[in-house]
Amino acid sequence: MCNRCDEAPCMRVGGDVIRKRADGIVIIDPDKARGRKDIVKSCPYKAIVWNDELQLPQTWIFDAHLFDQGWPQPRCQQSCPTDVFETVRLDDAAMAEKAQREGLKVLRPNLGTKPRVWYSGLERWETCFIGGSVSARVGDMVECVTDAVVALYVGNQKVGETVSDQFGDFRFDGLVKDSGGYRVEIHHALGNAWRKCELGESVYLGEVSLAKSTNSMEVA
Ligand code: SF4
Repeated sequence: MCNRCDEAPCMRVGGDVIRKRADGIVIIDPDKARGRKDIVKSCPYKAIVWNDELQLPQTWIFDAHLFDQGWPQPRCQQSCPTDVFETVRLDDAAMAEKAQREGLKVLRPNLGTKPRVWYSGLERWETCFIGGSVSARVGDMVECVTDAVVALYVGNQKVGETVSDQFGDFRFDGLVKDSGGYRVEIHHALGNAWRKCELGESVYLGEVSLAKSTNSMEVA
């Protein structure tokens, strides 16, 4: 969505067609913007779409019409059952303090656009993970394995360690995209396992079944 940039490229291209209200909401004037397809490309976040029928560049107006009626928050915030959105009115210092405290980030800060939309957990978008799910045969059943020790290696160097959760799941976050070959080793009283993978985008290894033999892992 529109990031309500303070240094907005769209406003540089659009001139008086686009303006930022005092409350920070960016508005495209539908009368002045007719036919201005060039404005669509001006947004590096691809937040502006072209309405072919109306011949207009458009973006979500952050429910500005509702704020003007006295609403304290946009409709999406009011209706989201998992509280994904939070709308706040803060000065720069207070917002910087909140961002620091909650680990919030803006999208592509290197562009210098100074966005006013902050994201939680953005590192999960910007980085990759390697994950999987550990299982083992117990009698006639295949069970999820809790508390298996899972280690991540690059070559012979251990770069991470975690344990599987109650569903047998494990995950290494914050890995760099296209960072090459990794090896995952898993140890538990029920058995051991290992997998190799090449990290381009995130990798889900699927179900990893433990076996009693450890030889192959030591060779790997
Ligand atoms: S996100 Fe795009 S449309 Fe929104 S203010 Fe920034 S440049 Fe303009």
